[in-house]
Amino acid sequence: MFALKTLRSFSPAAKNVYLRSKQAIAVAVSRMQHAELQHGETAAPFRPETSMAKTLMDIGTRRIFSEEHDLFRQNVRRFFQEEVAPYHAQWEKAGEVSREVWEKAGEHGLLGVYTPEEHGGIGGDLLSAAIVWEEQMYSNCSGPGFSLHSEIVMPYISHYGSKAQIERYIPQMAAGKCIGAIAMTEPGAGSDLQGAKTFAKKDGTDWILNGSKVFITNGWMSDVVIVVAVTDREAKTAAHGISLFLVDRGTKGYQKGRKLEKLGLKAQDTAELFFEDVRLPAEALLGQVNKGFYYLMNELPQERLLIAVMGLASCEFMFEESRNYVMQRKAFGRTIADLQVVQHKLAELKTEICVGRAFIDSCLQLHSEKKLDSSTASMAKYWATDLQNRVATQCLQLHGGWGYMWEYPIAKAFADARVQPIYGGTNEIMKELISRNIVSKK
Ligand SMILES: Cc1cc2nc3c(=O)[nH]c(=O)nc-3n(C[C@H](O)[C@H](O)[C@H](O)COP(=O)(O)OP(=O)(O)OC[C@H]3O[C@@H](n4cnc5c(N)ncnc54)[C@H](O)[C@@H]3O)c2cc1C
Repeated sequence: MFALKTLRSFSPAAKNVYLRSKQAIAVAVSRMQHAELQHGETAAPFRPETSMAKTLMDIGTRRIFSEEHDLFRQNVRRFFQEEVAPYHAQWEKAGEVSREVWEKAGEHGLLGVYTPEEHGGIGGDLLSAAIVWEEQMYSNCSGPGFSLHSEIVMPYISHYGSKAQIERYIPQMAAGKCIGAIAMTEPGAGSDLQGAKTFAKKDGTDWILNGSKVFITNGWMSDVVIVVAVTDREAKTAAHGISLFLVDRGTKGYQKGRKLEKLGLKAQDTAELFFEDVRLPAEALLGQVNKGFYYLMNELPQERLLIAVMGLASCEFMFEESRNYVMQRKAFGRTIADLQVVQHKLAELKTEICVGRAFIDSCLQLHSEKKLDSSTASMAKYWATDLQNRVATQCLQLHGGWGYMWEYPIAKAFADARVQPIYGGTNEIMKELISRNIVSKK
């Protein structure tokens, strides 16, 4: 407890130091436990799986995590409870969150958790990053686009950026002072990214960018956006002629369109972006020319895992929300939790969620070891987000008419769930990717 209290009063730099040292301690503790085991003394304390825990969101569960992770999770949980949840309704009306919450998240060391420290990130492990994703879903506050910023956009800069690009963007992004977005989708090209029309033409050492993008998460608030553009129309395949560019807010010819009105994710800013004769210096190119599609293919498994992890965490939230509701809601002189049909429904839901949890945790572990392949990540995304929508429908049903009211958390979770099988590659595309491996003759 002492550590948590002091962490809240640290400066950002000191907090980062604290978080880093926590990880060093975690490694040391784990080595000690391993050594003790070898000498036949004490084993690490048993961590129950969620199926055995009091609630599906209990801290101290799941064998993939450590006590150090639990400490971090408590801190993150408190952040979402105190700094996000109280403001979310007003952000839903505004269609965007505040800049302040981004900077606060930066101060608490919640942005760029999995980005290496030497690049200006927090230098934490994947599981710590996953804790931030999960806790956001447990808070049922989908507004802040932290996960896309931290574990989708930042990795492109960290993995493919020049030293100058890394120094320019990563520390600012980790501090929440520079918000990131990635623009792949176009009005006429979503699933088929190779159909992108946005074009960057070489002009001396500069590039001239023309085109438009749509459905861009963080698009309205973003300070920098990674733009996917065609750079060689004559390439042997479209995939060989695509590059990535870093485009800053305020660059001449770059305009943001309207914030799009969505069915869910009400507090998340999703925007259209327009590029008209935008002159970009050579330094705006991210990585090598015409390698963009290759970079996208490399990074998409992490994006899919992230969506899956958030989907499964949302299932856990919805289950607990519904369990609480049916235990206090009365009908026919008793609570509806007393009805066997409701008990069986909860038993089915819990079983499905816990089965899903086992697979998602296994994917998290694989990705921690850099062994998660595209096909397995696609299975996780497709399965977890389909489950999320089944759970959302059933849990809303358990709430009766109140479940349809926006003031009830389940209504929001239901609306937010709907996009999950669509973005990050639709679930139909996930099945395409999975089936390629199944029928491959090699
Ligand atoms: C809220 C939200 C946030 C988003 N954020 C971002 C973002 O930050 N950056 C970004 O670049 N994009 C973003 N997207 C875009 C998202 O990734 C695309 O909407 C998605 O990839 C699908 O593309 P599309 O909408 O063009 O649908 P289409 O590609 O037109 O697909 C329409 C339907 O056809 C099906 N289909 C298409 N091709 C096949 C096939 N080969 N086999 C079987 N079925 C097929 C699809 O599964 C779908 O059901 C976001 C979208 C939303 C709604």
